[in-house]
Amino acid sequence: MSELLDEPDSNNAVYKTLLESTKAIPWKIDWASMKFSYIGPQIEPLLGWSQDSWGTAEDWATRMHPEDREYVVNFCISQSKAGVDHEADYRALTKNNGYVWIRDVVHVVRNEHGEVDSLIGFMFDISERKKTEDKLINLQKELEALSFKDGLTGIANRRMFDFRLDTEWASARRSNQPLSLIVLDIDFFKQYNDRYGHVHGDKCLISIGQTLNLAAARPKDIAARLGGEEFVLLLPETDENAALKVAKRCQRLIEKLKIPHEASSISQSLTASIGVGTIIPTTEMEPENFIQAVDKLLYAAKQKGRNRIESARL
Ligand code: GH3
Ligand code: MG
Ligand code: MG
Repeated sequence: MSELLDEPDSNNAVYKTLLESTKAIPWKIDWASMKFSYIGPQIEPLLGWSQDSWGTAEDWATRMHPEDREYVVNFCISQSKAGVDHEADYRALTKNNGYVWIRDVVHVVRNEHGEVDSLIGFMFDISERKKTEDKLINLQKELEALSFKDGLTGIANRRMFDFRLDTEWASARRSNQPLSLIVLDIDFFKQYNDRYGHVHGDKCLISIGQTLNLAAARPKDIAARLGGEEFVLLLPETDENAALKVAKRCQRLIEKLKIPHEASSISQSLTASIGVGTIIPTTEMEPENFIQAVDKLLYAAKQKGRNRIESARL
C-alpha cells in the first residue's frame, strides 16, 4: 500500500475506505522522483488503465489529449514549482482510445524547509458537466443566430441591419467609399391581405424576402426585413449607378414572381415601390439621417404612382 496510507494508525483502514469509496480519484506524486506513490483504484473503472500502470508523471502526461497536454503540463509544473495549489481541466485518454473530461485539483505539499515535497490531488470526472456546458454553448450560438434573423422570412432582421449599417457606415467614412441603401415597400399590401388572407400575405413576404436576398449578390451586401412589408438592401462600396441597377433587378425579380394581386389598382401582380440613396458618409451625418432620407425617396415613389424607383445621391 502507499506511503499516503501506510503509517501505522488505527484510523488507516477508515481513511483508506473513505478515499477509495468516493467518486473522486485520489493520487499522490513524489516531487523529487516524479513518481506516483499512490493512485486510487477507482482510476481503472473510469479510464481502463490499471492502478499499477500509473508509474510516473510521464504516464499521466502521455494519457492526455494532445491538444490539452502542453498547456496543462506546463501550467501544473509552473504552479507546483511556485508552490501554489491549482486545478486543471483536460481530456484523459482511456484504454480503448476514448477521452474523459477530468478536473484535477492539486494540493502542493511542502517539507519543513518550505520546499515542494509532493503533490496530492483528486481527479473528478466532469464529462457530464462538460456535455451540459457544450449544449449550453451550442444553444447560445443558436440563439445568437436567431436573434439576427427575421422569424418569418429567414433573412436578416432589423437588428442585424442596424448592426451592419453602423459598421459599414464607419468603414465607408474611413475609406471615402460610397454606401448605398435601397428601401422597398410592397404596394397595396393591406388590400392583398384583405383579398387573399393573412396566410397568403405571409407566404408572399417570404417569397419577396428570399428574392431580395438573391438580389443582394455581393458578399458584403445584406438584405433585411425591417418589419411589416418593408425591406432594405444595404450595399457597401456601391455607387449610384450600381445601386440603381440592383434596385431594377429587385423590381424585375418581383415582377417575375407573378404573385397575383387583383385588388391592386396599378397592376395584375404584386409590385413594390423603391427608394435608393447613395452617400459618402461624413462625420456630420448619422446613419439614421441616411435612412430617413432614403425613406423620403420611397415616399416620393409612392406619391408618384407606386411600382417605381426614386433614387438620389445624398
Ligand atoms: P402602400 O402601397 O401605400 O404601401 O399601401 P400598403 O397597404 O402596402 O401600406 P400600409 O402600410 O397601409 O399597410 C401595410 C400592411 O402590411 C398592413 C398589414 O396588413 C400588412 N402587414 C404588415 N406586416 C405583415 C405581416 O407580417 N404579415 C402579413 N400577412 N401582413 C403584414
Ligand atoms: Mg409599409
Ligand atoms: Mg406597403
